[in-house]
Amino acid sequence: MRTEEIRWDNLTKLLDQLFIHKRRLRSELARDIRVRKSTMSYLIDELHGLNMIRIKKIVSQSRGRPNEEVSLNPDHGHVFGIKLGRESLKAVVYNFSLEHIDSREYLIRHFPEYANPVERALHSTEVFFRHYKPVAVGIAISGSVDIKRSTVNFSPILGLSNYDLRPFLQKQGVSDTFLCNDVDALHVGEIIKAGVLRDSSLAISFGVGVGASFYDGVDIMTGSDGRTSFEFGHFGAVKNGEKCYCGRKGCLETVASEYGLMKKTAGSIPHFVENFERLFPYLNQIRDNAASGRIVEEYDSVLDYLSYHVSSLILLLRPKSVLIGGEGGVAQWIFDRIVEKIESYLSDTWALSPSIRRVTDPETWETGSAFLALRRYVRKKLWRAPREGAVRAL
Ligand SMILES: [Zn+2]
Repeated sequence: MRTEEIRWDNLTKLLDQLFIHKRRLRSELARDIRVRKSTMSYLIDELHGLNMIRIKKIVSQSRGRPNEEVSLNPDHGHVFGIKLGRESLKAVVYNFSLEHIDSREYLIRHFPEYANPVERALHSTEVFFRHYKPVAVGIAISGSVDIKRSTVNFSPILGLSNYDLRPFLQKQGVSDTFLCNDVDALHVGEIIKAGVLRDSSLAISFGVGVGASFYDGVDIMTGSDGRTSFEFGHFGAVKNGEKCYCGRKGCLETVASEYGLMKKTAGSIPHFVENFERLFPYLNQIRDNAASGRIVEEYDSVLDYLSYHVSSLILLLRPKSVLIGGEGGVAQWIFDRIVEKIESYLSDTWALSPSIRRVTDPETWETGSAFLALRRYVRKKLWRAPREGAVRAL
């Protein structure tokens, strides 16, 4: 690794610790990122120079040198975390230390007269952009996303294909955007909340679609082509099964998602996706019944398919923990049923016993996407700073 890369890597590690712990003593930070005191002073001076952190002197009761408490400067700028799903677009405004400031939600079904209601919902956020002028924006989207190009490759559930978000964002004056898959955002939001950045985890999302995301203790797994990986919902589950909207047959999503709960009403999965607004009240009824504890018979086979395939993913990836969440909210009994089934499918032979947790915070997607956007914003700033300095020195 070049000196520049080591410096950059240490700075981002330091910021990660500050995002998680909010306040950290200088001595604790030195331990967290394992650097010498002189290196730590250099890193802190650089971040302070960019107005990204605050430093407070702590006078110790015991003898020894006074310590310093370091925290992120909440006034450095606003950051948006946006979740764009089939049901709604939700935008949450955070300050620079990722504290919730404001939020707004736009229901997609409120724009039925538009050819593309998703795009219309996106344009509704313009007022919000003008008011808060975010320095960075993270957007979590259901579907396959090109992270490098800020483009939605393929999202049948949102009716988007090769959709470029850059013109919209440039119009809002936003230069730093991080586009990510919604399950990845859910996953990162939970990792940040739990403060566990060094352990591997697998996140599973159960709702209108089915998705998965893997974190290896350093980064979220993505494809070598820059696209989000893990099209878990389109893993083969039934040979020569029902035709999926993606073109394959027998995808997991046709048997293990909420569509599987209302096959008789919806007819086929392409029909379900195309007529989502009309079919949504039926789905909502099923969710209400489930939330009030009434067990809907169809859940049994759906959760069975899901748990069976999640257990195979656990065997493949050996994660330390598994997180389960979903757009419609995973009721406690649904979660319990999934855990019970996963355990029954993992034999003792493999010595696998990941801790399995339920995601309960409804803003986890927004927090995760905001964190990813902020981290990239900071990295870009830090990467640029010394180079500009170098040019000036010449
Ligand atoms: Zn498919």
